[in-house]
Amino acid sequence: MLQMTKDFVFHTIQGEGKYVGVPSVFIRLSGCNMRCKWLNSDGSVTLCDTPYSSHHPEKDMKSLAEILQAVDRYNTEHVVISGGEPFLQEELPQLVQDLKKKQKFITIETNATIYQETQADFISMSPKLNSSMHQVEKAFQLPVSQEVIAKFIQSEADWQLKFVVNQREDVEEIAEICRQLGVEKNIFLMPQAIRKQELEERSQWVAELARERGWQYADRLHIRLWGAKRAK
Ligand code: SF4
Repeated sequence: MLQMTKDFVFHTIQGEGKYVGVPSVFIRLSGCNMRCKWLNSDGSVTLCDTPYSSHHPEKDMKSLAEILQAVDRYNTEHVVISGGEPFLQEELPQLVQDLKKKQKFITIETNATIYQETQADFISMSPKLNSSMHQVEKAFQLPVSQEVIAKFIQSEADWQLKFVVNQREDVEEIAEICRQLGVEKNIFLMPQAIRKQELEERSQWVAELARERGWQYADRLHIRLWGAKRAK
């Protein structure tokens, strides 16, 4: 059994990173080992964009068979397994294996703090920076794990590093992480934003920072199209 959110399978487009715009079935697992909170320049605080799978995790238990049946409703090659943190769940490798038998292209979105071997095609890592940990309980403050990121990079899957940028200073931390990993490609900067207005305020300077460093800019297309609405 896997712990899921209530709307555990839904069809939409990928809004972020290398496969932006690609029609995809999302499988939303519930539960995260982090509790991100970002402090905004006006003093307000922004929680993770999926609080229903992290800060207040929904606990709808589903079997592998139920998940596969729900995925089968859509005639779509791309499947994105997201959370929360998918690698917390022991049955994740089995879920991926069963989806591969159906010829699916599988992305797993992760905070890159836990490694399990899977047959996924693409690992979208989003290591959380110091700026994501304002006012978070100590138990949920995880440092960036170079060791876990390196294992994903060395695995057979393609990958990206997609950093959520909240403030300009984040770029120095990102540069240091990439330097230590010896990574120069597949690096995306994505604005911290859960609403259209925040995205519009931040996208220009984040894109400019990405350009200066020779990295890629990742937008949040789903927010531009549908705002902060929960995907269905
Ligand atoms: S790691 Fe991701 S899912 Fe977990 S709390 Fe942070 S933003 Fe949310």
